[in-house]
Amino acid sequence: MKTSLRRNHVPGRKPEPILWVNQYQTDLEAIYDRWAHHVSNVLGSEKAIQGRQILQDIAVLLLIDDLSTLGKRRLPQSIRAAGLRGVDVGDSLRTFLANQVLQNSITLEKSLLPDVRLRLRGLSQDSNPEAVYDSLVGMKSRVGQYAGTYWKILNRAIGERGGPVVWTLDSSSTHCRTCLEYGGRAYVSFEAMLATTNGVWPAGGTDCGGVCRCLLTSK
Ligand SMILES: [Zn+2]
Repeated sequence: MKTSLRRNHVPGRKPEPILWVNQYQTDLEAIYDRWAHHVSNVLGSEKAIQGRQILQDIAVLLLIDDLSTLGKRRLPQSIRAAGLRGVDVGDSLRTFLANQVLQNSITLEKSLLPDVRLRLRGLSQDSNPEAVYDSLVGMKSRVGQYAGTYWKILNRAIGERGGPVVWTLDSSSTHCRTCLEYGGRAYVSFEAMLATTNGVWPAGGTDCGGVCRCLLTSK
């Protein structure tokens, strides 16, 4: 079941799995940015307090629904990004994937939704559309960080292809404690790595939650 990750790798280009994650992150942020533009225009013209609250409550639900839908569509593709296209990935990875997709939606609802709602309610009634947008856009990079779930599934799927693996540190990132401790090393197998790291893998249980952008590669 071992396949080469670098099958389509062109020198000078990032490995293909990283491009897939980057695209997901870009699309999460684009959904948020479009939403922030739209909401700022609508709220900029609605001054009645009751009307604003209804608009805000609906707007935040639509945002969470859009982000959650993108997750349901894209996160399963991480298996393909790991080079497991057309391979029977087994029950353990399939169950893990399903749980992660569900958890992603729950986190968006329980963590992001209340914070965006709070941000909207804190806006002054007199704010013009530009001021509303400036306030909302501050949360865009946080939305992009939900792409960490993609890293987590991707790296686990790469590990479960079998064979020796290398925890590769992204040279352009500042790394967290866990990635520095366990990264930059080769392991005889994914299972051997988990035994050494107490169950932690790149973006799976690390302090950074995937922000370090470490990639598991075949040795
Ligand atoms: Zn890290």
